[in-house]
Amino acid sequence: MTSPSLAPGKPCPICAKPSVEQYRPFCGRRCADVDLNRWLSGVYAVPVEDSEDEADQVRPAGGGEERS
Ligand SMILES: [Zn+2]
Repeated sequence: MTSPSLAPGKPCPICAKPSVEQYRPFCGRRCADVDLNRWLSGVYAVPVEDSEDEADQVRPAGGGEERS
């Protein structure tokens, strides 16, 4: 008896289609990319903090030091 080792598994979380083993838990690369983009969007949504050290070195240009 040759039974295919195809586990039912969970459906694709993106489109609810049967997931493909290669792209589990997604049904394909497309849905995998969709999930990846969502994940990346969440990461990039985090505001970048400016380094205080760099901010300290930044001085206003065009100072009137020569004119005393
Ligand atoms: Zn899908």
